[in-house]
Amino acid sequence: MTTPTRSTMRLILLLAVLLKMVTGSHQARAQTAAPQAKLSVHWEELTAADFREGIRRSQATCLLPFGILEKHGPHLPLGTDLLDVRYSALHGAEQEYAVVFPEYYFGQIAEAKHEPGTVAYSREMQLALLQETTDEMARNGCKKVIIVNGHGGNDSLLPFFAQTQLDKPHDYVVYIFDERTPSSGGPAKKTKIDMHAGESETSNMMISRPDTVHLDRAANESGADQHRQDLPEGLYTGIWWYARFPNHYSGEGSAATKELGEYQMKWWIDSVVKAIRAVKADDASLKLQNEFYEKSKHPLDTQP
Ligand SMILES: [Zn+2]
Repeated sequence: MTTPTRSTMRLILLLAVLLKMVTGSHQARAQTAAPQAKLSVHWEELTAADFREGIRRSQATCLLPFGILEKHGPHLPLGTDLLDVRYSALHGAEQEYAVVFPEYYFGQIAEAKHEPGTVAYSREMQLALLQETTDEMARNGCKKVIIVNGHGGNDSLLPFFAQTQLDKPHDYVVYIFDERTPSSGGPAKKTKIDMHAGESETSNMMISRPDTVHLDRAANESGADQHRQDLPEGLYTGIWWYARFPNHYSGEGSAATKELGEYQMKWWIDSVVKAIRAVKADDASLKLQNEFYEKSKHPLDTQP
């Protein structure tokens, strides 16, 4: 057995130091590279650790696509609104990263209770569940919650929900994104009345879930406006929709085309991407909310 000389020892030490430097830098590279790996945008598909990374990468921006269970004419599935809005939200979030909350369909749909398959929660439940959902999202780091609306019947509920966020302090902002259809451009439309399960919505479903569209049944019922109420504009009743469209069908689904669906869904996805970017860039809303909550504790001290 030979004993190493002092110079051999120095050489071994030097090699050990070099080896550590090389492996150390490898580890450092691996650590910085890991977060760049593809992360799912689906909340429910992330591990707990990846969820933390998702919130960091999304800059605390999360989407809550909001649909409903209701009849959609004689030819589209009950979940049409949720299927369409999730298609747009998920594709949008893949282009501009955001964490997307799971299936949510607890909205306003009292006007379709006479049709099979409608799930209509009470108003108390709708507001309480939505509040607890956004509260829980925020507790998990979603300080910017974008509710992406897929259902026309939520048009009054959602702005009201956003307004009630001023009731008491919240450490997050609720944004409502409620644009679903381009007002111009794309293939020319063939129908004038097109509010529910008609040309537009059926075309969209031909892109998001073509396997669920029964185009051959679209003309089995009438989606015409039946004008059964005679009130001037400016007078509103909850029964207006049923008065005009008692079959819960407005338009002609048989006029749908894949080309129109492609144009509209691309527009919807692009619009979601723009909304996510605008929300990420918004650093005013939370500051203003906090200023407002503070002032609202002592309104008499608030100077003009
Ligand atoms: Zn719909």
